[in-house]
Formats: sequence, C-alpha cells, structure tokens
Amino acid sequence: MTGVDDLAGRLRTFAAARDWERHHTPKNLLLALSGEVGELCAELQWLPTDAASENWGPELRQRVTDEVADVLIYLVRFADVCGIDPVAAAEQKIEHNESRFPPLP
Ligand SMILES: [Mg+2]
Repeated sequence: MTGVDDLAGRLRTFAAARDWERHHTPKNLLLALSGEVGELCAELQWLPTDAASENWGPELRQRVTDEVADVLIYLVRFADVCGIDPVAAAEQKIEHNESRFPPLP
C-alpha cells in the first residue's frame, strides 16, 4: 500500500461518514479540483516572476502548502472515484515521456 492508497482510503472513509459520496461525482470533484488549482495560483499570482520559493515568508508558505493539500485531496479523490491508480498512471506517463524525449547524450 502506498501513501496515496492510504490517503484515498482515508478520504473514502471521510466522505462515507458524512454521506458525501453522493456529492463526490467525477464532475463535482473535477470542478472542486479546478477551484483549488485556482486558489493555489492566486497565492503566487502577483509575486515577481523570479520569486524563488525560499523567498516566501512563513505565512505564504503555509497558504501554498494548504492549497497543495486541497489540490492533492481532490485529485486523489477524483482518481479513486473513477477507479484510476494515480501513481501507476504517473509512472506509465513518465515511461512514455522517457521514450518520447530521450536524455541528452
Ligand atoms: Mg483551498
């Protein structure tokens, strides 16, 4: 079991305990995911383009961390509801990209 499997199971339990499964349709979860990506983008929207992460103050870092969590939660929940293993999908995609874009000699 991976960390992602643990997270998916915890989210499944969380939703079931609140009778939220009926709200967790793929469409609803994708819209929620999209909203959270927007919230993550909004945290960095007006920073200078070259602002490095180490220049973030602790409050901004915490807000970005919170939004990363929201994005991951909705992505993992969406994949779980759709029966997709996101880690296997990512590994498959990386393998595809490794053959599509060979390393420099
Ligand atoms: Mg959020």
